Amino acid sequence: MSSGDEVVVALDVGGTGMKCALVRPDGTTVHAERHATGAARGPEAVVGTILDIAQGLAGKARADGLTPVACGIAVPGVVDEARGVAVWSANVGFRNVPLRELAQARLGLPAALGHDVRLGGLAESRLGAGRDVDHVLFVAIGTGIAAAHVIDGSAATGAHGAAGEIGHILVRPDGPRCGCGRPGCLEAVASASAIGRRYTELSGAPTTAAEVADRAAAGEPLARRVWREAVEALADGLATAQALFDVETIVIGGGLAQAGPRLLDPLRAALRERLTFHREPRLVAAALGDEAGCLGAALLALDARP
Ligand SMILES: [Zn+2]
Repeated sequence: MSSGDEVVVALDVGGTGMKCALVRPDGTTVHAERHATGAARGPEAVVGTILDIAQGLAGKARADGLTPVACGIAVPGVVDEARGVAVWSANVGFRNVPLRELAQARLGLPAALGHDVRLGGLAESRLGAGRDVDHVLFVAIGTGIAAAHVIDGSAATGAHGAAGEIGHILVRPDGPRCGCGRPGCLEAVASASAIGRRYTELSGAPTTAAEVADRAAAGEPLARRVWREAVEALADGLATAQALFDVETIVIGGGLAQAGPRLLDPLRAALRERLTFHREPRLVAAALGDEAGCLGAALLALDARP
């Protein structure tokens, strides 16, 4: 058996869907499938589905003449990577689920569990938009905002598994209330959901962030205002992040990154205005799309392999 046969069973569990794959140690995907999370069924049913899918993927690998060597799982929320426990998740309902142990027992393979954004950052820094540099901040902007600080290909977890929560940097003290309970957090002002909500509030018509981006690009004054306010708040948050981390490259991912230059160009300019002696980071769009979490789960599993 040569190492060319080796694959990792990788899963990225989201609130609505799971991305699942067999990934080679070099980061290439040999097989990918998607499944519904079915979070409404409750966390126990979700865990059952995760284990069934992982086992099915390991079986498929063997049937295809490949050798599954490890299993990596990415989950949202608070994750204790050292213990392999999904501590808490708002949208999947995990409460202290020892997923790593469960996966190891079911598959008979070494397993690793990590935070979805952190693993997305790991993949972008090693295989994607940050692969040429050693200090990367990956920022995922979607329903919320979270980041991963990756140095030399290793993503910091923090002492309590909560590093990278830049969505809760205070940017507008008298701004809208955040899901965490405090007013004015970055994600309450500048996440994709916040942008849609703000425009909806001002216009009276239900609107998504993607639509706001389109209308702003078309020159509609209200959309331009909402977009500019979000970009300025993001620049405030990123300036704080750059003061803390001094990275070479900031990789912007998540749903809002699909706005491309309509987001990145004004954001780059607004960030530049805010930096004084700090070195300006390169600001780029993520390269791996929504596969990043799955690829990062595979990388973590390989790193953790005994
Ligand atoms: Zn908050």
